Amino acid sequence: MNNETVPKVDVDIVYEEENPVIYQKKDNIAFLTLNRTKYHNSQNSQMLYALDDAFLKATSDDGVKVIVLKANGKHFSAGHDIGTPGRDFHLGRDDRRSMNYNHDNKPGAEKAYVREQEVYLEFCRRWRAVPKPTIAQVQGGCIAGGLMLAWVCDLIIASDDAFFQDPVVQMGFPGVEYFAHPFELNIRLAKEFLLLGERWTADRVLSAGMINKIVPRSELDQATLDWAKKISQQPRLAMALTKQACNHIEDLQGKRSGMDMVFGYHHFAHANNTIVKGDYIAGFDGKKMAKSNKNREN
Ligand code: ZN
Repeated sequence: MNNETVPKVDVDIVYEEENPVIYQKKDNIAFLTLNRTKYHNSQNSQMLYALDDAFLKATSDDGVKVIVLKANGKHFSAGHDIGTPGRDFHLGRDDRRSMNYNHDNKPGAEKAYVREQEVYLEFCRRWRAVPKPTIAQVQGGCIAGGLMLAWVCDLIIASDDAFFQDPVVQMGFPGVEYFAHPFELNIRLAKEFLLLGERWTADRVLSAGMINKIVPRSELDQATLDWAKKISQQPRLAMALTKQACNHIEDLQGKRSGMDMVFGYHHFAHANNTIVKGDYIAGFDGKKMAKSNKNREN
């Protein structure tokens, strides 16, 4: 019997947004804007592949010196899509970006392991490695998978209404797939952030060193533009080398290899959820998660 593959899951998907990421260029700055506002920019594959396209476009354009990652709507990103009509995690792609096979007809724990390697771990690493300075512009919620998008950027500017949270320990996981927590926070704060799973205000994450700057909501666009313009005056190669130097030192400190190990833990947790709870994310959906997270205000 061949149990190496299983039939693909046939589920109706309704994409509410044709352009989940908007690409704009003004002078020598590219703006990549998350645009699933109806679902607080929760990340389905449609959005993540569009974002990868946008990063590649900005990287390839010699006229772009700096990249801004921002979001339409009230929130930067509510995390990975775990329950909208456009949730498409079971779909394979012919235009995969890493050297891997499709996940959509794979059985057991292999399905999520293969998919999450591509769309979460490898995508984040690709975006972190973009050789041009990147600035995340964050308003409202930046939750779980939302953190991953902000963290891969070189600088983070937040509005005073922003809040940050990784609430996935309650789902059985040691944090989101891109385990940068001990690099974004010191280790004791990383433990607090994860174990309590509370929302941290912009002030709290600034004092913890996770972000660079807080501005009033009404000044967020302008403050980001001001920094982008200043940075864009620097020479291209020097900026690329500066990024590579900082990222390389982080990797020498164990970021990359540690993340590989924790990714294995994360998928042990997915498999355990399936065995114990009958569902790889322990029966959580968007509504249950949102309700639970609201009770975790710091
Ligand atoms: Zn996962």
